[in-house]
Amino acid sequence: MTPFRYSRATDVADAIRQSGDCNTRYLGGGTNLVDLMRETVERPEALVDVSGLSRDIEELPDGGLLIGAGVRNTALAEHRSVRTRYPALSRAILAGASAQIRNMATVGGNLLQRTRCAYFYDDDGSRCNKRLPGQGCDALEGFNRNHAILGASPSCVAVHPSDMAVALAALDGVVHLHGARGERSFPVADLHRLPGDRPDVDTLLEPGELITAIELPPLPFAARSTYRKVRDRSSYAFALVSVAALLDVEDGRIRDVRIALGGVAHKPWRAFKAEEVLRGGPPRAAAFTAAADAELADAKPLAGNGFKIELARRTIAAVLGELAGETA
Ligand code: SF4
Repeated sequence: MTPFRYSRATDVADAIRQSGDCNTRYLGGGTNLVDLMRETVERPEALVDVSGLSRDIEELPDGGLLIGAGVRNTALAEHRSVRTRYPALSRAILAGASAQIRNMATVGGNLLQRTRCAYFYDDDGSRCNKRLPGQGCDALEGFNRNHAILGASPSCVAVHPSDMAVALAALDGVVHLHGARGERSFPVADLHRLPGDRPDVDTLLEPGELITAIELPPLPFAARSTYRKVRDRSSYAFALVSVAALLDVEDGRIRDVRIALGGVAHKPWRAFKAEEVLRGGPPRAAAFTAAADAELADAKPLAGNGFKIELARRTIAAVLGELAGETA
């Protein structure tokens, strides 16, 4: 591990002030960043500990929730309002990592965790454009069973590992940021980038910008939401494919729907094409499969992950079928 300085931020303004003068990273739970530093993939000169900030979950007057970025994953998953009004989020968090890691990991850190592509972590012999831009990508012709089928580029075919981010994207979550130029916010679904020719840049965050909170809007039909994760073993494994979805059915028609996919792209993949196919139609199995086909029409498999297309198709249809059954 490369030597670094450590300090604790007293508040958001202090964190931003401390981040400005060198190669600094914010430290939440450290459950991914410390691993990356140990492997020398990340070599910050300084860590600013923000884990003591923004640790509240607040009920908003409009019926939404404001979740501080320092809230631990376990606390969020177990929060009564999350379990009852946004169950997809609770289920997604509980599908990730282990209980010990969830007890440490923060909401902000979960969103900013980096890909688990094995070549990215192998600083001693593998080529990786995300770790060292211009070096090449060993996953393209190597082990790519876990990699992307949507939105990838010749520079990088990695997937984003977060379960929580997939649920937040489906639930229309909004991320709040503070930085040297002030505050801003945008949808969680827009936070992460597709790789293009800059796979080393994961998000739209500017240098020194700090995630302070996630806002969940009031979505009454989110009470009938769910998250399904398909993986190689039943715990402590990343998604091959995951689906977060919520479905609003009235008088035999789909009035509204949200779907997001995990394990298939460099970012949580909001399935806007599938949603468009479904709105106004009947909640039938054939419609669910047609919606999945529309979303996956542009999928481009690699040598080792062609199975993901059919897996995603079946998982989307199964999740929507489950939600339709609950609303019937
Ligand atoms: Fe690196 Fe991306 Fe290629 Fe993995 S897929 S080796 S993260 S460039």
